[in-house]
Amino acid sequence: MKVTVLGAAGEIGRSAIQLTTSISNILMDYGISFSKNEPKFPIPVSSKELDAILLTHAHLDHSGGIPIFYVSAKPRLIATKITIEISELLIKDLIKLSSYYLPYESLELINMIKSAKPISINANFKLKDLSVQLLNAGHIPGSSMFFIEGDGKKLLYTGDFNTINTKMLHGAQINFPSLDAIIIEGTYATIEHEDRTKIEHDFISSVNEVVSNGGIVVIPAFSVGRAQEVLCVLHQYNVRGKIYIDGMAKDASNIFLDNPDFFRDYSLLLEAHKRAIWVNSWSERKKACKEPGIIIAPAGMLKGGNVRFYVKKTARNEKNAIFLVSYQVEDTPGAMLMKNGTYNFRGKTEKVNAKVKWFDFSSHCGNKELLHTIRMTGAKKVILVHGDKNKLEKFKKVLQDEKIAEDIIIPDAGEEISL
Ligand SMILES: [Zn+2]
Ligand SMILES: [Zn+2]
Repeated sequence: MKVTVLGAAGEIGRSAIQLTTSISNILMDYGISFSKNEPKFPIPVSSKELDAILLTHAHLDHSGGIPIFYVSAKPRLIATKITIEISELLIKDLIKLSSYYLPYESLELINMIKSAKPISINANFKLKDLSVQLLNAGHIPGSSMFFIEGDGKKLLYTGDFNTINTKMLHGAQINFPSLDAIIIEGTYATIEHEDRTKIEHDFISSVNEVVSNGGIVVIPAFSVGRAQEVLCVLHQYNVRGKIYIDGMAKDASNIFLDNPDFFRDYSLLLEAHKRAIWVNSWSERKKACKEPGIIIAPAGMLKGGNVRFYVKKTARNEKNAIFLVSYQVEDTPGAMLMKNGTYNFRGKTEKVNAKVKWFDFSSHCGNKELLHTIRMTGAKKVILVHGDKNKLEKFKKVLQDEKIAEDIIIPDAGEEISL
């Protein structure tokens, strides 16, 4: 069995792993990354030789490159039902925003969706000489890890994963003794997340304080997962004030609500969405800014989306707050707001008077969870991907110093690894 790392090598973005045996040739994820709004792709592979494409989850850094394989062929796409539906939503939006830079069009996306075969979490299936199982990854609804056996070897590809329970999802269960190899993400390889319950309490008391003083809390959140997780937290803690939800988060919510099987507590998801006011017009948007309450809207890093309208309307008033709940990539408006307390209002950068705070509602494992995962699997080979190269190097040293693993690889793009 041979693993070729085509992307996410020493970086977060454009995840792509090729797995070959003498009989099979499959691809796991084929995402994109962005540099200056221009999508970057993993190393190319020929679609004609592929037996199947397996997709861990819908985020564009895992799914965004897949339509390229449907320009000249129709390989089978394997993922959970909700992953297929959310990928369609996100790639459609990508085509709308970046079609100029993309080597595919809507037709390829249509063919990709037509070629998709939904597989349930925990189901086992055969792909030529490989036996594959999709397992809950706890990252976003529908996200899965791949456990693969073939050629006398056992391999786990985690994709993006989270082992702690969140309001929406069960944490990933890691129980795979004696793996030959694990391909594991390291987004937060050097970062320790705070206790989740404590974060929720801080968040709720901060929200309640602003709303009881007559202010508005604007929560920029990713459309898929974070917006709904935050909504569930707000509802479960019975927060004060009206809760509005806007933008593409509503489309993702509709898909979530149609797929009850994927959730830890579907009734919480349903009740939280019933309580929320779904904003559908500019008059409703303006109305939401006129009274104390909570507004959840994408984008999570304030790059585009309806949230920009809400920030412009509310940020000058010190009674209000902007609570960031997503990771903020450097040089994004969200990162600027966090670092300098400033925002670009119609071409002019100004100081923001509203309170600005960041809450760590991460959907990735932190350092402790990653170490635990590797320990539990006893993997002979640890292949670290989906992380900053320097941070992965530091993490590798910890694994060696604590004698958790010996054969640890931080691959370069294009590197082939024999198992
Ligand atoms: Zn992800
Ligand atoms: Zn990712």
